[in-house]
Amino acid sequence: MTERIRIGNNDVLIVVDLQNDFCPGGNLAVPHGDEVIPIINRVAKKFENVVLTQDWHPHDHLSFASTHPGKRPYETITVSYGPQVLWPDHCVQGTSGAEFHKSLQIPHARLVLRKGIHRAIDSYSTFYENDRKTPTGLLGYLREHGVTRIFLAGLAFDFCVRYSAEDAHRENFTVYVVEDACRGIDVDGSVAATRRAFTDLSISCISAQEFY
Ligand SMILES: [Zn+2]
Repeated sequence: MTERIRIGNNDVLIVVDLQNDFCPGGNLAVPHGDEVIPIINRVAKKFENVVLTQDWHPHDHLSFASTHPGKRPYETITVSYGPQVLWPDHCVQGTSGAEFHKSLQIPHARLVLRKGIHRAIDSYSTFYENDRKTPTGLLGYLREHGVTRIFLAGLAFDFCVRYSAEDAHRENFTVYVVEDACRGIDVDGSVAATRRAFTDLSISCISAQEFY
């Protein structure tokens, strides 16, 4: 039995990409992605500091298969910064698919951080884009607010949540992934790879039950 987690001023909840395109019916739907929303709404009430991230691409983004003639979604290509999975068009700036799911109700969220805004770089992590050098600005925000512990929830477990957790760990935050408040896409075993990576880095996966 795990002790209940107490949330304080140095904690933040980062809600990753709870957008229409990542939910059932969307262009890049994560299976059962919408199931996490009531859980996240409930967990978010425990936090004063909540950050929402939003995948926010130009229409001709490099991560879209449609940008590369002859390529199909879920193929991997090599770009200037290394391998890049190609996705269906998703979360295009200003479209309904890029909006937050209407059931997500966290009016006290302090920051909405948009990522993937550069045409030629994808961004899985909410800290650094896929070139691993271009910062999103989140690190500065968290440091200026004295955050020491980061709790992550959202979509997808094996991409944006995973890379965010790894970057947060690397930046010396204590990281918890609220696993039942995440869902995965699972491309080529990526969910199992994520679990192995978290074990290797001692990143804790917890249940939303531990907040109540
Ligand atoms: Zn994207």
